[in-house]
Amino acid sequence: MAPASLQVIFLGTTTLYLSDGETHLLTNGFFTRPPLTQMLFGRLAPSRERIGQALQRAGIQQVDALLVGHSHYDHALDCAEVCRQTGAVLAGSVSTLNIGRGAGLPEERLYLANAGSIFSWGKFRVTFLPWKHSFPRFYPGEIVTPLVPPVPVSAYREGGTFALFIEHPAGSLLILESAGILPGALKGIRTRAVLLAVAGFPRLPAGRERLFREAVLNTGAQRVFPIHHDHFFLPLDNPPVLLPGSRAVMDWLERRCRQEGIGFEVLPPWERTALF
Ligand SMILES: [Zn+2]
Repeated sequence: MAPASLQVIFLGTTTLYLSDGETHLLTNGFFTRPPLTQMLFGRLAPSRERIGQALQRAGIQQVDALLVGHSHYDHALDCAEVCRQTGAVLAGSVSTLNIGRGAGLPEERLYLANAGSIFSWGKFRVTFLPWKHSFPRFYPGEIVTPLVPPVPVSAYREGGTFALFIEHPAGSLLILESAGILPGALKGIRTRAVLLAVAGFPRLPAGRERLFREAVLNTGAQRVFPIHHDHFFLPLDNPPVLLPGSRAVMDWLERRCRQEGIGFEVLPPWERTALF
């Protein structure tokens, strides 16, 4: 009997919907995508309307758990509102949970993740691995009290960064939603697929190669999918407008993957793709 298949929908930046038909996970859930001027000079708050529209467009009704890798606004701005609209529990750092608290999510729906924390939902097993944010590290530190938007972008402190290792009988995947490198953090991890952030990717060839080795070659990945490559100050189109610099990184990744006999695949936004 064939194992259950695993479907993914790429929803911009590092927002990914994963479903095996029974259990549904979402990472980050960033849909508001405020324009650049608002990010720089204004205050940020989740847009209930945009979140609702995005969930509807993607055909997402219910989510069991929302997994957040770090608490910068382009990852975590909408996490609490997405939980509210989908019924999901929120899993992440102290900082992420304080975003949930600020929005009034009850404590029983807040799952604190530390480096190495493992959670199971249905057939999914999720490990929060320690990881490092890409350089430069904007707004380091923690969100130490419940965060009530609207707030300036600087209020969304990083709160530490996790890599998400998601195991499922259909196949495993590793989500690196920030392109830093923490040498040795992925030791022992074997995965079929890596979803790798393009924004903040190392500029120098040696750094690029080091990240590729840690994330792709050492994990035995057979497939690489770019994420965080879309221009997140604009609405998400299909195909997406790319962030400046994304094309060069994606070309580099594609070339390196080809040299190693590894698949490089770009997920079309909004569309359900069978991953395994
Ligand atoms: Zn970040």
